[in-house]
Amino acid sequence: MFDKILVANRGEIACRIMRTARAMCVQTVAVYSDADANALHVRQADQAVRIGPAPIADSYLRGDLMIAAALATGAQAIHPGYGFLSENPDFVDAVQAAGLVFIGPSAMAISAIGLKDAAKALMTNAGVPVVAGYQGANQQAQHLEAEAAKIGYPVLIKAVAGGGGKGMRLVTQPADFAEALGSAQAEARTAFGNADVLIEKYVTCPRHIEVQIFGDGIDVVHLFERDCSLQRRHQKVIEEAPAPGMTEPMRAAMGDAAVKAAKAIGYKGAGTVEFIVDASDGLREDRFWFMEMNTRLQVEHPVTEAVTGVDLVAWQLQVAAGGRLPLLQDQLRINGHSFEARIYAEDVPAGFLPAAGTLAQAAFPTRVRIESGVESGSAISPWYDPMIAKVIVHGSDRAEALRKLRSALAAVHIAGVATNTNFL
Ligand code: ADP
Repeated sequence: MFDKILVANRGEIACRIMRTARAMCVQTVAVYSDADANALHVRQADQAVRIGPAPIADSYLRGDLMIAAALATGAQAIHPGYGFLSENPDFVDAVQAAGLVFIGPSAMAISAIGLKDAAKALMTNAGVPVVAGYQGANQQAQHLEAEAAKIGYPVLIKAVAGGGGKGMRLVTQPADFAEALGSAQAEARTAFGNADVLIEKYVTCPRHIEVQIFGDGIDVVHLFERDCSLQRRHQKVIEEAPAPGMTEPMRAAMGDAAVKAAKAIGYKGAGTVEFIVDASDGLREDRFWFMEMNTRLQVEHPVTEAVTGVDLVAWQLQVAAGGRLPLLQDQLRINGHSFEARIYAEDVPAGFLPAAGTLAQAAFPTRVRIESGVESGSAISPWYDPMIAKVIVHGSDRAEALRKLRSALAAVHIAGVATNTNFL
């Protein structure tokens, strides 16, 4: 095991990773921008290194400075968290070139699966069902429109480099295609520097069900599914595990497909295979299709931890340090039901506008799991993601978990900044 790791992230995920590291007697190094000099993640670490000014391009996205900080503090490995540098193959290469360990998959696996079009082609070859659509190189408007007609409306235009619902447009009739394409491409160019899109059949009664997988480079297991269908503007709001109405045959089929997907790229570490499910007729084994794979820990990983009893960050550290998977597939079980709700600093009546300011008070219930990077007096800075906390509950069944979620949310008291708590 490592003696010391650097956490190249901030906020709740940095705190969460450091908590497990501490429990494993691994020392932690935090990094921070000027906006985060007094942040909770900085105080919870054994050591902290200033990276740069507030803008992420000058701080949390500076892979070179992260590596320099790790070398200067004697950290042997870098945990990227999610977002920022977590799915950047060049960063993985640079970390390894510096003689450090990247706590995550190989650069090759990340590149193979990083763009939605390449990932879909790879999965088709691996025998994983993918959403019907066009993901070819010909990006001419006329050609794309002809492909959309072939697929049949409604269709979804997606940026191949997309994330967070950006560069995505639903088109219900041919007359709207050209305009939707133009705006999707423009948004993708601005957000990702890549205007390429793919066209997909739009599933009209969709559920988003994803499978947590874990590989050690030799073997891959899955830790069952999470249901993330409750979204706002294609962004997850409340997640749960297991998926309501899931049948054993469907779970086995989705688990197998996810493991196949991970094995196709020799996967090492934690990952998530996202599927779109046509739920117009309940959950059926022939109605789920691969959407994309995320090669990192997900925001919603705690619901999986709650129902499996596995600490996914502990597994990440063990596997990155050269260990094998701690449990085999037949040793993994689902126990009860879990929900996660994301509390954001946002003004709901104003149209969910991100809010910023100082938390005059931030009080959370104590009998449930809270993941947060802030406390009373902390600043919610406009520079970063406005998530304040995640509330995670576990019950013996879904009804009990839901009751606990309701009472936990009622016990959240945040003042000073508008939040979505009442909305949740
Ligand atoms: P991003 O990477 O931008 O988050 P995803 O491909 O993961 O985009 O899709 C985000 C969400 O959009 C999904 O969780 C799902 O709710 C919806 N979605 C994606 N593809 C489809 C589809 N083919 N049909 C219906 N809904 C879809």
